Amino acid sequence: MLRHLGADAIEVRLPEQLNGLDGLVIPGGESTTMGKLMDTFGLTEPLRAFAAKHPVFGTCAGLIMLASRTAEGTQTLLGLMDITVRRNAFGSQVHSFEAPVDLCLENEDDHTVMTGVFIRAPWVEQHGPAVQVVATCDGHTVGVRQGHLLGVSFHPELTDDTRLHEYFLREVVAEARAAA
Ligand code: GLN
Repeated sequence: MLRHLGADAIEVRLPEQLNGLDGLVIPGGESTTMGKLMDTFGLTEPLRAFAAKHPVFGTCAGLIMLASRTAEGTQTLLGLMDITVRRNAFGSQVHSFEAPVDLCLENEDDHTVMTGVFIRAPWVEQHGPAVQVVATCDGHTVGVRQGHLLGVSFHPELTDDTRLHEYFLREVVAEARAAA
């Protein structure tokens, strides 16, 4: 998706691969496994240090990794966004679904709809004052932004709709670059 939009993108698996990047996408998957692998491969602290200064876009399990808290309890999290997420809030794998998501990216009065693909998706149960809600689905918060950190609980890479990736590149990455 990022390459399609003209960005240079590489896969990051080891700490040194973060060097020189403008931003990072943490994809979906399984957040407890991701946390264990991050600890095993020495990626947890480098990711925290990277995300303190650079834009990060977390999708689904990636959103969970950005959170400070899960409703369920302890697991390795990056703890960067002032949000509490509830894992699997929309149900298990068999309850995966597509649904309209209300997007509010630029200003409060500007709402658009996109299709969200939800796969064992979390929702954001609680958030602090620094967090802006950018997406909702059926009354639940499914997208949040806190400065240079963006997270959604669905999978925007699984549709042809590039708006969220464009927004990440245009607003979040560009703003962070301008501020640097
Ligand atoms: N339910 C998964 C978790 O808790 C996330 C699912 C996903 O990323 N599609 O990590």
